[in-house]
Amino acid sequence: MNISARFDTNEVFNQSPAYENIDLFLSDLPLREAVRANGAAQEEAALSAFGRQLGTAEVFALARRANENPPKLYTFDPKGFRRDVIEFHPAYHDFMRASTAAGLHASTWTTSGARAAPPAEVARAARYYMTAQIESGHLCPITMTRAALRTLGAAPALLAQVAPKVVATSYDPAFRPWWEKTGMTIGMGMTEKQGGTDVRANITTATPTGDFYTIVGHKWFLSAPMCDAFLVLAQAPGGLTCFFVPRFKPDGSVNGLRLQRLKDKLGNRSNASSEVEFAGAYALRVGDEGAGVRTIIQMVQLTRLDCVLASAGFMRMALAQAVHHCRHRAVFQKHLYDQPMMRVVLADLALEMEGAVALAMRLARAFDHAASDPREAAYARLVTPAAKYWICKAAPTFIFEAIECLGGNGYVEESVLPRLYREAPVNAIWEGPSNVMCLDVLRALKRDKEAADLFDELAREAAPVIGKDAAFLELTNEFESEAAARVTVGKLAAIAAAAALAASAPAAVVDAFARTRLVRSRGPFYGADGIEAPTAGILLRRALPEN
Ligand SMILES: Cc1cc2nc3c(=O)[nH]c(=O)nc-3n(C[C@H](O)[C@H](O)[C@H](O)COP(=O)(O)OP(=O)(O)OC[C@H]3O[C@@H](n4cnc5c(N)ncnc54)[C@H](O)[C@@H]3O)c2cc1C
Repeated sequence: MNISARFDTNEVFNQSPAYENIDLFLSDLPLREAVRANGAAQEEAALSAFGRQLGTAEVFALARRANENPPKLYTFDPKGFRRDVIEFHPAYHDFMRASTAAGLHASTWTTSGARAAPPAEVARAARYYMTAQIESGHLCPITMTRAALRTLGAAPALLAQVAPKVVATSYDPAFRPWWEKTGMTIGMGMTEKQGGTDVRANITTATPTGDFYTIVGHKWFLSAPMCDAFLVLAQAPGGLTCFFVPRFKPDGSVNGLRLQRLKDKLGNRSNASSEVEFAGAYALRVGDEGAGVRTIIQMVQLTRLDCVLASAGFMRMALAQAVHHCRHRAVFQKHLYDQPMMRVVLADLALEMEGAVALAMRLARAFDHAASDPREAAYARLVTPAAKYWICKAAPTFIFEAIECLGGNGYVEESVLPRLYREAPVNAIWEGPSNVMCLDVLRALKRDKEAADLFDELAREAAPVIGKDAAFLELTNEFESEAAARVTVGKLAAIAAAAALAASAPAAVVDAFARTRLVRSRGPFYGADGIEAPTAGILLRRALPEN
């Protein structure tokens, strides 16, 4: 037998076909239901077109390339002059172009910087969630840009100039002053070496200099440093203040931002995160002196929503890959999908996903209506940190379980899952880590009567699905305890997810969620709780169409 004939016998079988060329919207029934339940039914056709475009083999390959070729910092030119520019792989620019064209960076705003009408938030949330499934590094500047407009509301004259450039749907990566470009991006700088959570520990100074301020100091994390401007916290004479720091000064010269190096990160490889020194940088004040935290926190509320959406998106891709693979892979003469224990593991993952996507879209609806409805404003205030804690914390272990469903195939880079796994922890860390989110919920419950009432209301809403006797609903005496905050906030998030599911999913799903997540305390791992076979069947058919 010649060598080539011998290799012909090495037939590949019992491997799943590539999970690609899918409509990320149509194939995701829980998402479709949540979009409908939260007021965006009219967007379904457009969302399906978006999901189909994103789910192609070409776009999967583009995402791989954007992450295999991380950005590079060029601090100096060959003759020693400062450059401070970042170069990205063309695949990264392709994602920036596509997400900007789809309005992920600004579709919730009008060209004057006012809020766009509902369901702008839910429609964007669905697109964001689908995009995160494919490539999430580029979403960092996209998120910050859309959130920055909220904070710029504190500087109306500046907002009026900047908003049309931000809202434009053309991506312009040129290193030029923002006013000469067709579109612009905005980043943010708060974290310093000596303090991230504790931003009041900032030591960067802002000195009034005529009609602007001069910034001297540093930021320890400044992501997407090629943005056209940054919202930065610095100590002005009147206290910690928010500033708009553009890459170019009004005379067209490069502003004093000195990029020191790029972080070598666990994941998030396609995105650049830098350390920066401000060497007498030109800056404009946003809001009053001393009101820095109050001003920038407006933006952080929106970026936290995106952390929720991105983590839910990672979970969705992991789940879809796991279910798809198990439907094709046979072990001991039976597809993995039909092995009783694997079915329960997959169904438990699908159930977690149901809660996550229902809650994420319900939260987006609260942002749609917060300006006109105090209850929705209270929902956004209370549930944003709770959902960020709960969903972003769940994502890494969820993805790990999905990796195991694929066995060795899941551990290799081409399966997409390792990238998701490396990416997932960042959403729990940036924009406020888990403990900080839990403390934020306690703060809202103590200070905001509407938020505390809403907590009781959500518990009442969830009561029928939990059952009257459930000790789970005894919550109200726990608000004071920081030590118990994770328990309190975990309950709040699970209750909010159950209530969101009750409005969008069939009774069997709501019942299974309540039984396994609320009435009983869960085992530490997926599949440990035992979901009955008929419920598992429902959950798995909903997770991915069986064709
Ligand atoms: C990839 C990446 C990109 C980033 N990009 C940016 C950026 O563009 N701009 C920016 O400003 N920042 C950025 N950050 C920084 C990020 O926002 C901070 O890392 C984060 O806010 C946490 O701050 P810290 O790292 O200083 O941790 P710390 O504040 O030191 O917190 C450490 C731990 O202590 C916990 N903790 C804090 N306070 C309490 C408390 N009172 N009780 C109990 N536990 C507590 C926290 O939950 C956390 O687990 C980025 C971070 C990463 C990883």
